Amino acid sequence: MRVAIQGTHGSFSEAAARWRWKEAEIVPCRDVQQVVVAVREGRAEAGCLAIENSLFGSVTATYDLLHEAFGDGALHLSDEIRLPVFHALLGVPGAALSDVRRVLSHPVALGQCRIWLDSHLPGAELVSEWDTAGSAEIVARDGRKDQAAVAPLGAGSAYGLATLAERIEDDPSNQTRFLTFTREPAPALPQGGAPIPRKTSLLLWLPHKPGMLAAALQAFAARGVNLTSLQSRPERTAPWTYRFYLDVEGAPDEPRLAEAMEAVEALVTKVVVLGSYREWNDGTAPSRPPTPPPAHRRPRPDVPLYDRRQKPEGSTITVNGVVIGGPRPVLIAGPCSVEGEEMLLEAAISVAASGADMLRGGAYKPRTSPYDFQGLGVRGLKLLGEAREKTGLPVVTEVLSWEEVPVVAQYADVLQIGARNMQNFALLRAAGRSGKPVLLKRGGGATIEEWLSAAEYILADGNEQVILCERGIRTFERATRHTLDLNGVALVRERTHLPVLVDPSHAAGIRSIVAPLALAGLAAGAHGVLVEVHPHPEQALSDGAQSLDRDGFAALAREVRTRYPA
Ligand code: PEP
Ligand code: MN
Repeated sequence: MRVAIQGTHGSFSEAAARWRWKEAEIVPCRDVQQVVVAVREGRAEAGCLAIENSLFGSVTATYDLLHEAFGDGALHLSDEIRLPVFHALLGVPGAALSDVRRVLSHPVALGQCRIWLDSHLPGAELVSEWDTAGSAEIVARDGRKDQAAVAPLGAGSAYGLATLAERIEDDPSNQTRFLTFTREPAPALPQGGAPIPRKTSLLLWLPHKPGMLAAALQAFAARGVNLTSLQSRPERTAPWTYRFYLDVEGAPDEPRLAEAMEAVEALVTKVVVLGSYREWNDGTAPSRPPTPPPAHRRPRPDVPLYDRRQKPEGSTITVNGVVIGGPRPVLIAGPCSVEGEEMLLEAAISVAASGADMLRGGAYKPRTSPYDFQGLGVRGLKLLGEAREKTGLPVVTEVLSWEEVPVVAQYADVLQIGARNMQNFALLRAAGRSGKPVLLKRGGGATIEEWLSAAEYILADGNEQVILCERGIRTFERATRHTLDLNGVALVRERTHLPVLVDPSHAAGIRSIVAPLALAGLAAGAHGVLVEVHPHPEQALSDGAQSLDRDGFAALAREVRTRYPA
């Protein structure tokens, strides 16, 4: 196998190429362009290009070549190689460090040794050469004591040079990422082996409109496709416009990436798949688990995942030591909205003192009117985090949109999906991928079947930690806000293994009947209660009329603990 590299014998590119093809016959090339030409013209069967260094950053010459090299599909990217890069300073035999006035190397290598060169050879001229090992060759050929090369240690013995210093790179973690490619496509892998993680490199041209880059990236984020690199390079013939290079995990035929690509194609001016290749794994790091395809691309299970037949004994979900779904009812209490630091702490401390297991409070509020208080957003999340610190209570808080799942998940112990969003399928999927337990409220107009199907979305996306919460449905009755559907509670307890809670506050809308409804919910089989508690309900910015005050909650908690002793 003839492998073209940028540089010559003894270079890091050679070492990288030999990781992939041990017996490679190396074809040295002056620059990266020539590497591609050599393979296209058949002087080599494969090539190896440095693409990124961990200290220096992108190898821009390679980036600027990618479209021309791989855009037409004639060459095939095959592997990513990550090579630890240790630099040595090499001089002619008999030279001392104090003799050195000129240091030759590839500019990327000089850039990785700035600190050492500045402190040990402050006056030396730094000379950019075509290659690290090539510089060693020049130093050997010139035979001048005042010249040295920054190169791999091995290049010293190859060209008969002495080592003046070793390990001069700015950081011991220094490594360079290479991409290898071939003229012939790789033969298909035998079926049935463990899946080999792949990466895909893409090139995007975006319309110059607000939000286009974010929209393109969201196409991947929304489907749980991990981005590993993003690089912009100038569009040379159109000043101040850019092209974007993206590396993502997965291969283009994997369903999540295929869907994302479809969305990206619809959004951007142009997208080019540069190639897909084996992700580096030298065996020292466990390879990442393969991303499962989205639920709609998988076979429908014979029995729904929520169904009690899947787990006749019932599921329990443990959140920071609090077991939900067991015999002991859980009490989740706190204000409707996080309104400010003082009120939240007051509420949190009081419900903790009364024996609540978790704290609730909305930082993002779904309000019927856009003019009503919408919550404090991220500031509210931070306050919830502080309240958790102070009280030790895990936090349940609502997330309104799939875009906000990551930020809410940063602070929440349990993500609440509210009644209005029960059938927001993009949100359900994102919650499925969040890795956090999800409290799924029943929609005010949703049937039990629809509620369970919504839970199935979260389960099917790989999240087994789903808690159902009945919070009242809309009936003809207007005297109460909603009607707590106790039939529904008793029935879902039969039909699903998932834990079920009741929220009597939103069902009632009236403080005085919250406690009896809570007890009724437990009697119907609920595993716990979620109630709104405000230190000063008459001042609440939302749902004051249905909020218990601290004494009201203390009385309810006492009653529950008496009726259901541990
Ligand atoms: C809430 O819990 O404050 C809330 C808005 O609930 P629901 O989605 O049940 O209306
Ligand atoms: Mn509320």
